[in-house]
Amino acid sequence: MELGLEGRTVIVTGAASGIGKATAEAYAKEGANLALADINYDGLKALKDELKDTKVYIEKVDVTNAESCKTFVDHVYKEYGRIDVLVNNAGTAKIMDLATFPEDVFRKHSELMLYAPVRFIQLCIPYFKENGWGSVVNMASMFGKQPGGLLSYDSIKAADIMISKDYANYCAPFNVNVNAVCPGPVDTPLWRAKGQLGDQLSEATGMEKEEAIKWYAKTNIPFGRYAKPEEIANAAVFLSSEPAHYINGVALNVDGGMVKSTY
Ligand code: NAD
Repeated sequence: MELGLEGRTVIVTGAASGIGKATAEAYAKEGANLALADINYDGLKALKDELKDTKVYIEKVDVTNAESCKTFVDHVYKEYGRIDVLVNNAGTAKIMDLATFPEDVFRKHSELMLYAPVRFIQLCIPYFKENGWGSVVNMASMFGKQPGGLLSYDSIKAADIMISKDYANYCAPFNVNVNAVCPGPVDTPLWRAKGQLGDQLSEATGMEKEEAIKWYAKTNIPFGRYAKPEEIANAAVFLSSEPAHYINGVALNVDGGMVKSTY
């Protein structure tokens, strides 16, 4: 299937690691021109070095900082003269006691995973209108459909699904589709890195980290394994492709069958 992404400018936030990195690599295979944002500049630099045959623009961006986002989008337009696809992917998660869940963490997570995607959509709309075409993919989560006990994460990801549906209706008249991807657990640094979900799961279960990570997959995921980042990236690439352009306002589960909800 011809995906029609060659020469399109694709913005991916949180592109230095995990799903964002795999997403950038997947668009590169389709011949897209990449514009990658992350707070981790070294990670972006390494990815740019890896993608030698692709046009890659990288910038250190804190997506929670409005100024930083606007500057980045201005630079992307200056670099490529068009913006076609936006993948709002930057995110994080934290397992914390619901009885004492700190307000500042909730606010930080909202800034990162809810306000930032809205900000980027708003920044890109004028460029999509200029093209007469555009596509947005918001990286939500299965925990936006089914509670995972992560409070801020679950509720913000549910909101990500709803902003996707609202913007799907708003943007369709100017030929832009907006969808959410809802991954189940994916094997990325979000689980493996120090202080991240693997360690938090280990602390919660009393199991050693590797054992806790494996146990979680075996007991929760029908396939018995985590998704590979590229399995999520493929969904993002498809939803923003030309043949999928009429798909609008969906929240696509890519979770190996873990969530039973059809919403
Ligand atoms: P990851 O930790 O590997 O990558 C997240 C990236 O976001 C990192 O490169 C990080 O530097 C960047 N980032 C964090 N804060 C930022 C900020 N303020 N500004 C710019 N960049 C920032 O995580 P991942 O697993 O690849 O997750 C990517 C997305 O997928 C997140 O939105 C996450 O919620 C979602 N998701 C992940 C899983 C999973 O199991 N890994 C499941 C469902 C959804």
